[in-house]
Amino acid sequence: MSEPNIQSARAKMQVSDEVAVQITAMNKWYGQFHVLRDINLTVNRGERIVIAGPSGSGKSTMIRCINRLEEHQSGQIIVDGIELTSDLKNIDKVRSEVGMVFQHFNLFPHLTILENLTLAPIWVRKVPKREAEETAMYFLEKVKIPEQAHKYPGQLSGGQQQRVAIARSLCMKPRIMLFDEPTSALDPEMIKEVLDTMIELAEEGMTMLCVTHEMGFAQAVANRVIFMADGQIVEQNNPHDFFNNPQSERTKQFLSQIL
Ligand code: ADP
Ligand code: MG
Repeated sequence: MSEPNIQSARAKMQVSDEVAVQITAMNKWYGQFHVLRDINLTVNRGERIVIAGPSGSGKSTMIRCINRLEEHQSGQIIVDGIELTSDLKNIDKVRSEVGMVFQHFNLFPHLTILENLTLAPIWVRKVPKREAEETAMYFLEKVKIPEQAHKYPGQLSGGQQQRVAIARSLCMKPRIMLFDEPTSALDPEMIKEVLDTMIELAEEGMTMLCVTHEMGFAQAVANRVIFMADGQIVEQNNPHDFFNNPQSERTKQFLSQIL
């Protein structure tokens, strides 16, 4: 990641005191397995949160609960003022506010890039085709691959496909973006182009929760790093203090392995 990006990202980003996500005393089980234990987390609008922690600690499960890809069993999750319950209307509303990008891009291989980007706006949001295509081109420009619009996913590099996946989420005009290890499946030379796209989103004030092992990104862009282990939030801090002055033994051990 180049330095100028980092500095400009820091300078422009602001956090408001409006709450985007509020998780209170939340627990989740997979069958008998207590995967998330008493999670409390408040995310303000404009915050960029990096979630770190060992494999199996519940990071994916936690962010998947925020758009109800997973259901929690106790406690409360409120997204943009909407409580996630079994009420399908609320789930739809929350999903319309929250975009998600996964490790694997999940593009439809038999559709062009443009068709991948316009599918949900046209069929779910009932946006007229032409308007959906204009929006799609706007976001393809933003992720710097407008020339790929008429190709198929298989013709693009992994980094380009992941940028398409980000653009596809943005076409739904989310207010919050969730990222689950968006660069983990990419070759090293493609990681930067995806991180740069995420940095731009951060600069524009997008509220972001990112599970990532890219600690350079965390240091540059996050205003808060959350460390999870064994289904709990063990520690959270601003990146400077998180990396330089970790408090718990578990965090120190994790950092000694990855840094
Ligand atoms: P992380 O993203 O931190 O690696 P996950 O949230 O994917 O962790 O998983 C947390 C724990 O829950 C792991 O032990 C995993 O094996 C388990 N797990 C994840 N998904 C399921 C599932 N659908 N059913 C049962 N167990 C699961
Ligand atoms: Mg995971």
